[in-house]
Amino acid sequence: MSDYSLLILPGDGIGPEVMAEVRKVIGWFQTNRGMRFDVSEDLVGGAAYDKHGKPLADETMAKAQQVDAVLLGAVGGPKYDNLDFSLKPERGLLRLRKEMDLYANLRPAQCFDALADFSSLKRNIVAGLDILIVRELTSGVYFGEPRGIHDDNNNPENEGGRVGINTQRYTSGEIRRVARAAFELAKKRGNKVCSMEKANVMESGILWREEVQWVHDNEFPDVELSHMYADNGAMQLVRNPRQFDVIVTDNLFGDILSDAAAMLTGSLGMLPSASLGAPMDNGRPKALYEPVHGSAPDIAGQGKANPIACILSFAMALRYSFNEGQAADDLEKAVEKVLADGVRTADLMGPEGGTPVSTSEMGDKITEA
Ligand code: ATP
Ligand code: MG
Repeated sequence: MSDYSLLILPGDGIGPEVMAEVRKVIGWFQTNRGMRFDVSEDLVGGAAYDKHGKPLADETMAKAQQVDAVLLGAVGGPKYDNLDFSLKPERGLLRLRKEMDLYANLRPAQCFDALADFSSLKRNIVAGLDILIVRELTSGVYFGEPRGIHDDNNNPENEGGRVGINTQRYTSGEIRRVARAAFELAKKRGNKVCSMEKANVMESGILWREEVQWVHDNEFPDVELSHMYADNGAMQLVRNPRQFDVIVTDNLFGDILSDAAAMLTGSLGMLPSASLGAPMDNGRPKALYEPVHGSAPDIAGQGKANPIACILSFAMALRYSFNEGQAADDLEKAVEKVLADGVRTADLMGPEGGTPVSTSEMGDKITEA
């Protein structure tokens, strides 16, 4: 009998290398905190294609639907560049996201003090930063109909004679479910949500604002809620990002704002993410955790990869899937301590120097801490 079920999908490139370090961390929690994980491992991406001829086997998909959380490394690599579109490694990940209906994408931007000088901004703006962007992931302008590129022949004024169309479309239900996710997350953090849209120029933005407010007033009156136009939000993220706790926004704005926020913290090797779906029978959301970085074929197999993004993704699983907030805090503090001690994988090595370590040594240091 096991408390938490976890499916590990290491994937391709540096995926298996960084995942090996997460395994050490899991082992530590099992031995020292008595946590019981039922861990299974399977193939995704190019690794799955090599074995099954497709980037995600049906059995793996079925397993992902049953576990409390999926932890994924990375998929893809040059070896698979010429494959048919439907067989590409990335399709394996997209299938997971789609069939699990993961509508809330979580991208934290957390700045560890030891790395504050890595930021694109000044230390005094980012030191201690800890915000979470919740992006709606399954709807909006990326999916709305009608869409397409059409001839615009009846319009002689239009040089070139074509028109490109996308539709921003949100239902109240789609907005409410991602708003609900954001409020739930805020309760486990700073209890503050800022919703971003363009209600000044977009009908979907007006609906967005009304529905987020509705969820707040009816279900989460104790969480502080504010609204901001997304353009102002972009400015505020760069001017004073620490004013935020949780930001909830649509698919398009979330895409842009989360990339901007990522650069507040420095290296790609540090950024975790989570994608959450509807609550299952046990009350836990369907969930997939993964580092933001890709398979990094240029450094794969050399022991150079930074495992911290993947380890912090596991910390998110502890917090959001397993309700082990204290363990998540402790793991993040261990990462912080190791960085403060000057331990550095190559991607984190700045002008001030430090102790150079391999992927595996970084995992050992964090586990010791
Ligand atoms: P994808 O298309 O899968 O997002 P990508 O080509 O955009 O992949 P990554 O695979 O994320 O990019 O790699 C981008 C750069 O960042 C590479 O030079 C890679 O070496 C570096 N990089 C990515 N992840 C890490 C990591 N964990 N540690 C160290 N360097 C990394
Ligand atoms: Mg990329």
